[in-house]
Amino acid sequence: MSRYTPHSEAFTGPAKKSLGQNFLHERGVVDRIVLAIAPRPGDRIVEIGPGQGAMTFPLLERHGALTAIEFDRDLLAPLAAQASAYGNLTLVHANVLDVDLGGLAVGAPIRLVGNLPYNLSSPILFHALAHAASIVDMHFMLQKEVVERMAAGPGSKVYGRLSVMLQAYCDVTALFTVGPGAFRPPPKVDSAVVRLRPRPTDTIMIDDHARFAAIVRAAFGQRRKTLRNALGALMDAGEIASAGVDPQTRAEQLSVADFVRLGNLSPAT
Ligand code: SAM
Repeated sequence: MSRYTPHSEAFTGPAKKSLGQNFLHERGVVDRIVLAIAPRPGDRIVEIGPGQGAMTFPLLERHGALTAIEFDRDLLAPLAAQASAYGNLTLVHANVLDVDLGGLAVGAPIRLVGNLPYNLSSPILFHALAHAASIVDMHFMLQKEVVERMAAGPGSKVYGRLSVMLQAYCDVTALFTVGPGAFRPPPKVDSAVVRLRPRPTDTIMIDDHARFAAIVRAAFGQRRKTLRNALGALMDAGEIASAGVDPQTRAEQLSVADFVRLGNLSPAT
């Protein structure tokens, strides 16, 4: 049985909206997340945005050690003061977007966890993707609508750039949804927990990552247009067809494998 009770009096002051602070207070949700993470001995766990420790302390209590990256200076002292009762917390005061996540993978790749500030979810996801080779997996609480976009497949209304970019590099599994009442203050939207498992680098058949990203961006930038028109600046209809893709279809109908083949065509000179 855990000794941790959320919302200790050690933390004072209002939540900061600008930092996306909605603190989890429902212990049942925290337990489900910890269960989903299932820390194993030797895991190097890194939490983004520990806040008031809702996930940090139960994870510490279970695992003994973790690193947490928090931008809000006001939270550091109370986090550090409480953490010692549970385990060995290494606190990094930084904007996670400035942190070299690969540099934290000393001796072993990291497992990334976080109830993310929703205003920064996409930049944080892309930042993590850039370090995918150093990451075993990620468990994130995000806006439910973002998780739906991440896990969507071709033909779905919400299938888009985020779906293709993440699924090209990771296995994406939507785990469970969480209502606003689990947080203080409650957000205006539903939330969901997602698991991302980066695939081994040698199984990702993308020749040129920048070109792949540019093609996905262009294709969905004008998603109502046919590929022939949306990709006009990058390749012509003949090239699209040579990748086995109909130039008259739209981006939302293409599989991730279709995008990989398009990206691997040599650019016309
Ligand atoms: N993990 C806590 C919980 O579940 O209650 C807090 C979650 S709250 C949604 C997001 C946390 O991320 C806050 O503690 C906030 O201060 C922190 N944060 C916001 N922007 C950040 C950034 N750029 N880098 C690191 N942490 C950030």
